[in-house]
Amino acid sequence: MSPRLPIAVAPAHHETAASYISRLANLHGIPFPELWQQVSRPGAAGGGARLIAADLLAAVTGIPENLLARAVIEIRRPEPDWLAFRHEPQHGCPRCTARHPGGTVRQLLPHHRYVCTRHRIWIGPPDVIDQPYPTLDELPEIVAAQRAHLRLLRRLGPAATYDAVLTGFLICGHRWDQDAHHPDDARLDWGERAAELIPHGTEETTFSTSRLFAATYPEAVKIAALVGSLHWRRLAANDPAGQHRFAAEIGRRLGQPDYRPKVVHDPIAHWIDDDCWRPPSLPRTTYRTQRGFGGHTIPKAHQHSIDRHRRSARWFARNRRGGRGILYHRHIGPVLARDWARQMDLFIGTVAASAEATTFSDTPAATIVGDATEPVIADYQRPTAVRSDYLDTAVNPVPWPTRESPPGPRGGRPLLGHERKIFTTPGR
Ligand SMILES: [Zn+2]
Repeated sequence: MSPRLPIAVAPAHHETAASYISRLANLHGIPFPELWQQVSRPGAAGGGARLIAADLLAAVTGIPENLLARAVIEIRRPEPDWLAFRHEPQHGCPRCTARHPGGTVRQLLPHHRYVCTRHRIWIGPPDVIDQPYPTLDELPEIVAAQRAHLRLLRRLGPAATYDAVLTGFLICGHRWDQDAHHPDDARLDWGERAAELIPHGTEETTFSTSRLFAATYPEAVKIAALVGSLHWRRLAANDPAGQHRFAAEIGRRLGQPDYRPKVVHDPIAHWIDDDCWRPPSLPRTTYRTQRGFGGHTIPKAHQHSIDRHRRSARWFARNRRGGRGILYHRHIGPVLARDWARQMDLFIGTVAASAEATTFSDTPAATIVGDATEPVIADYQRPTAVRSDYLDTAVNPVPWPTRESPPGPRGGRPLLGHERKIFTTPGR
């Protein structure tokens, strides 16, 4: 039995075992591997990996096992609903975790946690490691959106809420890169919030994709309330009159009262066409199924994600549009390439396909009318209601669906260097 450590330190809520042991090791001046050895046992899978052991951790810290199991995520009993949690740990609200000494506290947060409402700090989706979190003192609508998000969770349950909020971000992402024509258009608000979070000229130091998500979060949640509601899903899946009512309401929430679905460049039409009548999309993976669960791995920033981060910051500094950053971020992957979506060779094709409505429409996407130089994009309308066993029987809260087989490969490969020049022209 290992001797008890002299400094008493409690784990933070949702903290990962590796994060907690790392702080204990720092505070006691013990090498991390040595302390890990004392609180872990060889895993059942063999291969030399050692997994955290609640009884050994209790002996070393002097904290009863049942209290540790309330905080440290890997030894939580009963096990949490892993599908309701992200699969990547991140550092928590710096003010909430300030009373936990010894280094960065890494927590596994549930999907519905984007803001610390107590300290008004944006936490957001896991992004490049250790980006500072911005304060929301000047952006109270983002804090209010977190509260609305939690109300949605209580009404719809975790599965529908998860799918709906990510779908909201997907829709906002596509729209941000298109022009606004109405003075109340939410796209103008996104630009203003982005100016607060990533002031002009400071992009090199303040940019993060997570802050782009913050700029659109209020509308993502407003849209989620529609997209997650079985009533509105049934209207969207219904005849042209039902689709029209849905389109009018989502347009109102986005500050575009004359909105009409279009067959291309329109993620809302895509959702009406291919997604609204199916069960919510699942996360691609969970923390529980990750290799190294309960092990000692602490995530590090990969060079390629740092490079991508710098490229995104430069791109954003040039055009101040955040759509591309959102659409290309792994956070919305589960709704960008859903299990039933067409497989594309290139990721850029997957992004484009998530804003095309092709299942029920055989209208040509775009036609040249008169002597116009720009093609006119056709309106989208499905002629009849979709038959859907799911919508016929679903009641709130809808359960997590089951996936018959593991999800296919992600949505296509990224562009190579020379292809990037052809497909993406700066300033577009
Ligand atoms: Zn806090």
